Amino acid sequence: MAKQVLRLLTIKQMLLLSHLVLVFALVTSLSLSRYLSEWHSRLAQASEHALSAANPIIDLVSPAAAGLNYTNVKLDAAMELYQQTPRLVYFHAHAYSDFSSQPFGFAYERDSERAWQTNLSQQDLEAQQLHVKLLKHRLSSGEGDPVKYGFLLQRAIERLQRIRDDIHQTKHADFLLTVPGDAKRAYLLDEPNRLMIFSLPLRNANQGELVIAFDISRLLEARRAIQRQVLVEGGIALLFSSLLIWGVTYWMVSPLRALAGAMSKNVRDVDAEKIPGLERTDEIGVLSKRFSQLIQEANLQLDDLEEKSSIDLLTRLGSRLKFASVSSSYIGQAQRAGQCLGFLICDLDYFKRYNDSMGHPKGDEVLRKTAATIEVTLKRESDMAFRLGGEEFVVLLQTTEPGQVHDIAMSIVENVAEQNILHPNHPSSSRVTLSVGSLAVSHSLLGKVESVEQLYQSADEALYQAKAAGRNCIKAVNWNSVAQLPQGKGNAAN
Ligand code: GH3
Ligand code: MG
Ligand code: MG
Repeated sequence: MAKQVLRLLTIKQMLLLSHLVLVFALVTSLSLSRYLSEWHSRLAQASEHALSAANPIIDLVSPAAAGLNYTNVKLDAAMELYQQTPRLVYFHAHAYSDFSSQPFGFAYERDSERAWQTNLSQQDLEAQQLHVKLLKHRLSSGEGDPVKYGFLLQRAIERLQRIRDDIHQTKHADFLLTVPGDAKRAYLLDEPNRLMIFSLPLRNANQGELVIAFDISRLLEARRAIQRQVLVEGGIALLFSSLLIWGVTYWMVSPLRALAGAMSKNVRDVDAEKIPGLERTDEIGVLSKRFSQLIQEANLQLDDLEEKSSIDLLTRLGSRLKFASVSSSYIGQAQRAGQCLGFLICDLDYFKRYNDSMGHPKGDEVLRKTAATIEVTLKRESDMAFRLGGEEFVVLLQTTEPGQVHDIAMSIVENVAEQNILHPNHPSSSRVTLSVGSLAVSHSLLGKVESVEQLYQSADEALYQAKAAGRNCIKAVNWNSVAQLPQGKGNAAN
């Protein structure tokens, strides 16, 4: 599956994707570790501050717990200490007296600015109510000193009220119900309530515990600031890396694509000097230079091949291939030069018989000589001769008058005969002769020529007629007016 997906990707996409994933992983892990280390150091700092702030409270509460002395922990000085302890939200202590193993419970809440006993029960309340009742009874019955009992009653009523208040406060202080288990190990972070809660041992002999909570709003705000900062830094790093990756990928892949584009062209259409990446010194440059060399070598070999295949090896005239490649443009050249076009098909007479009686090598000799004779007969630079195969030659001419085409054809016929090559088996001559089908197209009709095949067909029909007329002669077709143009098949021979 992964392989199939990878196969669908281009090099550019693969480079981009892999680098982006890499950079994303790097930036994310770096940002995360930066965030964690920053956050943990802030946390450690905050917990250290909190512990040193809790110390004086432990110093105050521990002896009170040991001696079940609530007065000291409720003094104004003590309240001031709680109030001035930075970021303190609440604490509560529970312990057992060192002397009587009686429970000690005490709490402070910053919001209500209250400190109270937390281990009072309904029985304590009832006992105090009874005590108040008793004192009231003593006072009303006139027993003892009324001033003393009045004072005692006053104190007992105040204490009853405090017990009531303390029980009420204990009932409504949520934090007394929660047991911060994790705080026993180090501290507990209660993020929803923005608290850092510690469970610390008291210093009384019977052991006790102080659960103390500090406000961490500022710490959490600092954390958000760190998160924001890390996110911004990570985002910027990601953006710059992505731009860099995109640039590098473009720098690497675009010349490869350009090179691939050049490679997909026809060898002849590639300019070896302008191959993309030639100026580079890296691996792509090496590739481009090697490709340029290959193109140059291929072009040289193609030139060589073309040259070889454009020449007929036996006669050194133009080959059938050369004829095919130049003949149609030759018509255009004649037209542009304002000339008439001559198209001759020259064919040796009874050449089979010659071969039969003189042998093939001698026949080759005749072909060579005849080709040389044709070439010598042609005077102008624009005249071209080809051997299309066997003993058949085609001559292309540009002349000022259509009549000149016939003259040249005549010269060829005469010059071949004048080679005076003995033909032992020629029914009508003792020498090698040649017949010509000649076609002359006036300049004004060149634009009407449909194809080279059309010209060939007309000249070939003329040649057929020359053969039929006894050979060693010319039959000529002239296209001087539109009326003379062949309708489908050429028929204007004379
Ligand atoms: P015609 O007068 O009607 O043209 O008769 P012909 O015998 O010249 O024509 P035909 O087409 O019957 O024979 C052509 C001969 O040309 C057959 C073959 O022996 C000969 N020939 C073709 N190519 C070569 C070649 O490369 N070398 C030699 N020596 N002979 C060739
Ligand atoms: Mg022949
Ligand atoms: Mg022939």
